[in-house]
Amino acid sequence: MPDTITVAGVAVDTRHWIGGLRVASADAFTDHSPIDASVLGEIARGGPVEAEAAVAAARDAFPAWAATSRTERARLLHAIADGVEKRIEELAIVETTDNGALLRSHRRGVMPRVAHNFRFFADWLLRLDHEDFETRGYTNHVSWDPAGPCVLITPWNAPLMLATWKVAPALAAGNTVVLKPAEWSPLTASLLADIAAEAGLPAGVLNVVQGYGSEIGDALTSHPDVRRISFTGSVPTARRIAASAAANLTPLSLELGGKSPLLVFADADLDLAVDLAVEQYDNAGQVCLAGTRLLVEEPVAEEFTRRFVEKASALAQGDPRDEATDIGPTIHPRQLEKIDGFVQRAVAAGARAVIGGHRKDGQYYAPTLLTDVAQDSEIVQEEVFGPVLTLQTFAGEDEAVRLANDTCFGLAATVATGDRERAERVSARLVAGTVWINCFFVRDLQAPFGGSRQSGVGREGGTWSFDFYCDLKNTVTAPKGWNQDHG
Ligand code: NAD
Repeated sequence: MPDTITVAGVAVDTRHWIGGLRVASADAFTDHSPIDASVLGEIARGGPVEAEAAVAAARDAFPAWAATSRTERARLLHAIADGVEKRIEELAIVETTDNGALLRSHRRGVMPRVAHNFRFFADWLLRLDHEDFETRGYTNHVSWDPAGPCVLITPWNAPLMLATWKVAPALAAGNTVVLKPAEWSPLTASLLADIAAEAGLPAGVLNVVQGYGSEIGDALTSHPDVRRISFTGSVPTARRIAASAAANLTPLSLELGGKSPLLVFADADLDLAVDLAVEQYDNAGQVCLAGTRLLVEEPVAEEFTRRFVEKASALAQGDPRDEATDIGPTIHPRQLEKIDGFVQRAVAAGARAVIGGHRKDGQYYAPTLLTDVAQDSEIVQEEVFGPVLTLQTFAGEDEAVRLANDTCFGLAATVATGDRERAERVSARLVAGTVWINCFFVRDLQAPFGGSRQSGVGREGGTWSFDFYCDLKNTVTAPKGWNQDHG
């Protein structure tokens, strides 16, 4: 197994990054490109031994990093951001080759945002404070203490973006990190390790281990030296991680799946509503926040569907490296299989595919819209994570809200309406971590981000991230008792 592979002209180290050193494993897993199923390389496949080594490195590096001043930590995070910005083109092409999402959005949106993740949390750290207050003359001082080694586990659909949403605040808080990227798209995490090392981050502060969750996961999440676990991924994996973390009561942040509604009221700007609906096919629908349940008010349902079909049929599906492409491939043959299984079972149960409903060549799935679906059916209740939307109609606000809230998820919701008061009424009744009114995917790192119900536990963003990654301490000082000489 070579230590380095070349992906689209970029050298990527295939080994783990532990304690400031590249570490090989006896075993490997094969990484494929979803674009054409070609083999990208053999990647070091960690297990309990590598997990132990990475946690030990993070534990050993913790005291010095926790004692590093806030200004110095912020400076290093900005240096990592500089490194990301210098390598945007390389990161973008490697990510696209590895996970199949559009090169144009990696270049212009995602990778600049990755750099911003580091800058934002560096700057927020320097402003992070809590005013002292008095209780009958006693002073209360609240401090944001670093918690310790953090295990960060991430999915394949937006690998570096989601990883750095966690890495940046965890490091800013003074913690050390073991990052485990998903096995279907592990490459940019390895590049991040290079960038952090070049920026001067001390050895052991950031560690990256690769491997299958089922092999390396437990050893990381049940480790007694781990002080925080932040996980983004699916609900079934979250349950396993929560069970494993229970042994040490390790605090968890869980960012999970969704089945978000997109509500279109008859008073909405229909062109805008159609644009918002078509946007849900972004990244071939492999987006946790995707509003995959279109709920349309009866009087406009026919017209909405007509315009939606026209617009969706014009989407260009193909190679994600091509600037003209709108929808790329699905990540893996297993994901393609899963998506098609959902669609075929829905059709067998009476759903009608207005568009799509089938695979295309390679790992591509045709953008699909299903109507005639029952509220309690699998296709309406479960996350597909592919380019598959359902359309149901409703009569009035009460029914819209009832349908919107009737799943086990609560990640996001989008509302298209021309009536401001309706927007306020409806959004107040929706169960969701984020509600977008006449817009989609606007995400500011100052805002809380996360899911309700089975879409997650906790919130990330701004101070909420530091709430999670810090041990908050209140120090109460009496007004008297000081030695006179030192008072
Ligand atoms: P997944 O749960 O299969 O895997 C996610 C990560 O968990 C991978 O790194 C995997 O190796 C690891 N893992 C698997 N088993 C493990 C175990 N026993 N212990 C520790 N780690 C383990 O999810 P996925 O298929 O990679 O990602 C898709 C899911 O992620 C979807 O449900 C999607 O909605 C969700 N997601 C949520 C958000 C959010 O912010 N809420 C963002 C993106 C994706």
